[in-house]
Amino acid sequence: MVQAEIKSLLKEDISILIKVPNSAKHYLCDCGEASLLTVKEVQSVSAIFISHTHIDHFSNFDGIFRHQIGSGEKIVICGPKNIHRQIEARLKSYTWNLIDENAIEYEIREIVSKEEINVYKIRPPHWNLELIETQHFLFEDEYVNVDFAILDHKTDSIAYLFREKDSVTFNENGLEFKKGKWISELKKAFENNDSEKEIEIEGTVYKASDLFHFLTRNKGYKLGVIMDHAVCEDNYEKIKTVFREADMVYIETFYKDEDQEFAKINYHSFASASGKIMKECEVKEAIPIHFSRRYVESDQLEIETAFYKAFQGN
Ligand SMILES: [Zn+2]
Ligand SMILES: [Zn+2]
Repeated sequence: MVQAEIKSLLKEDISILIKVPNSAKHYLCDCGEASLLTVKEVQSVSAIFISHTHIDHFSNFDGIFRHQIGSGEKIVICGPKNIHRQIEARLKSYTWNLIDENAIEYEIREIVSKEEINVYKIRPPHWNLELIETQHFLFEDEYVNVDFAILDHKTDSIAYLFREKDSVTFNENGLEFKKGKWISELKKAFENNDSEKEIEIEGTVYKASDLFHFLTRNKGYKLGVIMDHAVCEDNYEKIKTVFREADMVYIETFYKDEDQEFAKINYHSFASASGKIMKECEVKEAIPIHFSRRYVESDQLEIETAFYKAFQGN
């Protein structure tokens, strides 16, 4: 299953790396200061998901593309309204006379609304934006598709849900046939709901549905990353719609309960509020992230205690 690693230390900003099992592919959520992020990991990132462009979530973008340029890869960047202009501004602020146009390509997906995603391309050395199309979904590759919620943080803040695709496994128990290419044909018929498909095993033809008992469908893991958001009903409705019953969610918990006045002023969340909404979403596991930089370790402990009390409370 996809797994997340927090790459920022306490007192740093926030950056979370999501790794896909049995694949060299990674996704990166936000580009804050992150001393645990290695060059090799950056070079394996195939898509970047930006929640919003406050400096603590975007300052290390330069450090990221520093290690991506020259790869010749196409890398997707998803982000809130105007993300394409902000990426363009960052890229254009350097001199690129020694870099050729095939050094990299960024495909930027600007989230205008839940149904409207503008797709842009931008490449060196001139980094001029080109609008390619408007699409109705955000991101899908062979491993995951990504849903999202547009939350209010006095600016749009995108919360992302990585939904791993369902997988089908073959159970060998009680198998009376020799294994062969029929297994992959059977899996295909199962995935396509094609119960009438004819499957030949050792010279005999079977109906696919008569062999489906050899297969099990495994529900894909659902991993969420909810960054900065205000404590308000509107945000919570959206969070519940997208993240309900997710397997694991990382959620911004910037303040201790005793500092919740600051949370209100700054459109942030605080410990028991984040824990409570995760409980209401019935997520299996939840982890508080992204604490105010003025906090020390004992404050972090206090946040975690209040968070889990609200998350597990009755
Ligand atoms: Zn913010
Ligand atoms: Zn922040």
